[in-house]
Amino acid sequence: MPEQPSEAAMQKMRNFVQKYCEKSGTTTHPDPECAEGVILGLAANVDSIGRPLCPCRFYPDKNEEIKNRTWICACDDMQIYKYCHCLLFVTKEGLPITEHLPEDHEGRQMYGVVKDPTPEKGRVLRAKAEEREIERKERPS
Ligand code: SF4
Repeated sequence: MPEQPSEAAMQKMRNFVQKYCEKSGTTTHPDPECAEGVILGLAANVDSIGRPLCPCRFYPDKNEEIKNRTWICACDDMQIYKYCHCLLFVTKEGLPITEHLPEDHEGRQMYGVVKDPTPEKGRVLRAKAEEREIERKERPS
């Protein structure tokens, strides 16, 4: 990963994050350094592999991983459950939304139930929850 992503990639991701917050009814983490770190990681992936692959996970091979859309931001967990592992898209208190997650999901175990303050927004892929749970078991990533 390059130390400093290009300004173009940073701007692209900042714009994306702002728009996605509006669309999903979430907010960026109240600690701006936390949000900036994630945006920097996303932008670095845009520069190096051409896609905003989630920077908070380990991939044996990033170029292989981007053949799936699972962890391209906004990832499947965000679009299905409105859960952001990286704490980029959160409630105004800085907590990830866990209300829609399956009970045995790591997010529920870590944070308990965090209610969705804007249930009318986001989760455009909610119908894919069943598919996602199969993938989580068959292709843990
Ligand atoms: S967890 Fe998902 S929504 Fe959050 S930064 Fe990573 S890819 Fe984006």
